[in-house]
Amino acid sequence: MAAECLGCGMRVTAGVLTCPKCDALLDEQTDGSVLHRDIAHQHETVAQAMAKLEHALQDCRRSHAVGVRLAVGRGVIRDEVMRQLSWLAMSGEILDFDHDEGNTGAIMVTLRRAPGRAAARRAAQNP
Ligand SMILES: [Zn+2]
Repeated sequence: MAAECLGCGMRVTAGVLTCPKCDALLDEQTDGSVLHRDIAHQHETVAQAMAKLEHALQDCRRSHAVGVRLAVGRGVIRDEVMRQLSWLAMSGEILDFDHDEGNTGAIMVTLRRAPGRAAARRAAQNP
């Protein structure tokens, strides 16, 4: 799978972490979009829902999205997803997660900083 640097438009091969043209950190680039995944409304078992959670996070990492909004319902799947996300947040695999504003049946998972933050940090590291 080929990707494109959002900073300069350079086509880069998958797995390349830094743009060869403008040195942007490709993993951290985001176009500000949010993916949407429903992992709990097709009569999933907890195991099936957790597999869908993992796929949703993989899709998000491959995309330029800021994060993914998960519809998790209000039952045992939601509890298990919250547990898993707590672990992923502690281990640094995701940045953050939270209930979508007032809707407890959905969780917003953040994988990348909003546009600008990565560039600002890079500038701070390489003055
Ligand atoms: Zn670039």
